[in-house]
Amino acid sequence: MLQAESIFKSFGSHDVLKGVSLKVARGEVVTLIGASGSGKSTFLRCMNLLETPKDGFIDICGHRFSFAAAQRPPKDNQLAALRRDVGMVFQHFNLFPHMTVLANVMEGPVQARGTPVAEAKELAMDLLAKVGLSEKADAHPARLSGGQKQRVAIARALAMKPQVMLFDEPTSALDPELVGEVLNVIRSLAAEGMTMVLVTHEMAFAADVSSRVGFMNDGVMAEIGAPGDILRHPSNERLKAFLNRFH
Ligand code: ADP
Ligand code: MG
Repeated sequence: MLQAESIFKSFGSHDVLKGVSLKVARGEVVTLIGASGSGKSTFLRCMNLLETPKDGFIDICGHRFSFAAAQRPPKDNQLAALRRDVGMVFQHFNLFPHMTVLANVMEGPVQARGTPVAEAKELAMDLLAKVGLSEKADAHPARLSGGQKQRVAIARALAMKPQVMLFDEPTSALDPELVGEVLNVIRSLAAEGMTMVLVTHEMAFAADVSSRVGFMNDGVMAEIGAPGDILRHPSNERLKAFLNRFH
């Protein structure tokens, strides 16, 4: 479903990704952990081409991009096709503040997929029910808690019927008591077989929901494997030191 091969990315002279590879099969949930600045967000952003890698190869839902020096940059229509299939949820929810919750969720299907309004509305109401927010359909984002906003952001991403979902620290900006409601939505997506790559510092959740856990350190995928091996029996010294911070 997703393959990233030897991804390199630099900002100026700062080499942020130094040949990161990841393969994710359909229905897998891969969690990425690692210290702040290790390149997790940049790697996720490279996967849906919010950042353009300097070198490497990406195949995500059959959208294939090669970034060796001689390659042409991806075209806008190729990027749009990719982003229809890949949903992304960020730490900050980025909802449209002037639009109702329902309108936020309908926007993608209507604008990017050309879905008829009535159909988009039905889909959006189904998704709001799924994330437990039917009664907030007509509210504006400013009236919602952080956890509710993030659940709307997830519903909005799902409205595009993505094949893969990327989550970048979806609960890091939330008050602790609101984290669980968002994790529960993600957990239900995992149970339905959604293919996901998730950056999180919620280690118990990662242990519970992940098919595999990858540890990023200083721009490389230092370790990747079954959650039990990575989280409970780490061999890598950097990983041990990282995990010790959570105990
Ligand atoms: P993580 O998500 O693991 O905390 P990031 O991918 O956000 O790490 O960042 C990795 C490194 O790349 C950091 O040193 C960060 O400052 C740098 N970086 C990220 N985005 C940019 C950017 N747009 N311009 C310059 N430097 C950046
Ligand atoms: Mg980050």
